[in-house]
Amino acid sequence: MPPLDDVLAGKLAIFSENHRLRAPIPCDSADGVAVTRGGKSLVSFAGNDYLGLSAHPSVIEAAKEALARFGAGSRASRLVAGDSALARALEAKLAHTKGTESAFLFGSGYLASIGTVPALVEEGDLILADKLIHACLIDAAHLSGAKLVRFRHNDLRHAGELLAAQRGQYRHCLIMTETVFSMDGDIGSVAELLKLAREHDAWLLTDDAHGLGLDIHAGLHAGGAHIQLGTLSKAAGGYGGYVCASDTVVRYLHNAARSAIFSTALPPASIAAAMTALELMESEPQHARRVLGLARRFTQRLGLPEAQSAIVSVHIGESEAAVAASKALEEHGFFIPAIRPPTVPPGTARLRVSFSARHTEEQVDTLADAIRREGFL
Ligand SMILES: *Cc1c(COP(=O)(O)O)cnc(C)c1O
Repeated sequence: MPPLDDVLAGKLAIFSENHRLRAPIPCDSADGVAVTRGGKSLVSFAGNDYLGLSAHPSVIEAAKEALARFGAGSRASRLVAGDSALARALEAKLAHTKGTESAFLFGSGYLASIGTVPALVEEGDLILADKLIHACLIDAAHLSGAKLVRFRHNDLRHAGELLAAQRGQYRHCLIMTETVFSMDGDIGSVAELLKLAREHDAWLLTDDAHGLGLDIHAGLHAGGAHIQLGTLSKAAGGYGGYVCASDTVVRYLHNAARSAIFSTALPPASIAAAMTALELMESEPQHARRVLGLARRFTQRLGLPEAQSAIVSVHIGESEAAVAASKALEEHGFFIPAIRPPTVPPGTARLRVSFSARHTEEQVDTLADAIRREGFL
């Protein structure tokens, strides 16, 4: 048998041939916009801290205070000794924000997904999912053992046809979509899918990872789904995941979501940071208005369709070309990641430009002009 390292070196060589080889590069920053990446000073359009709350003084202060009062860790899972008044208060806040009866915190959005989906459906059940849903929901679907069927991105007619043809062969059915799609920044059809779910006796799960904190400002109607899943690591600027749902769903997840039952609860500092971030989303709406304004300024300057969220995708095509485009923009002083398969479908490699309320108008204009000058559009 060949040694482990030889086997893996062979696999790495294939990643490299396909222009898919990746490696983490140190990227240090105080605010997520001015970054030092691999020793170079760059302006980053790569983060998901859309409102700039990761560096908000009130968020930092809340985290520090909880750290000093309650310590660095939560010491056990929520079901053992890791429950706290702080966690309960954040769940109440999340439920209130989402308009649901109840909420349940997870260690991350990924953990929320792989804990919740397999708790709800299993072999003999059907999952109907948008073609572009996030990898964590696909992993969750596979883990559940339910039959996974995909409908073309945001194509409600296709979703309806698949339900009409297949729903009858399965016991339960879970429909999954995103409120804001993570790679393109476009909006999921939540209300329409909810209607389909009612017609076909199915449940709807939405992943609001990129919608939280921007929804009302973007004209997004993200509510109403039976299960509303999300993360505290994007617009909330911190870390953690959650599910908002009915009281019964949440009490069931306490008993069935393995990624919460067998994993340590979030640290107090993360919970306190998220609580303050959610409060700031209400008391300081200027950050959401600003980031959407910046994204729209960018699309307008480049003649692209108007930004619907804080994410704008600039399609390039092949992986190699997308990597070259990202490198060229680095020469202009920008960090814009090339998103390649398998994160996106083959032939649709792109630059994913994500905006923060902390960007300046000048940074946005300079980036747009560099993209135009390089001829990427
Ligand atoms: C980032 C992301 C997640 C995972 O959230 P984490 O808290 O980072 O684990 C889930 N779904 C979508 C759509 C995401 O973009």
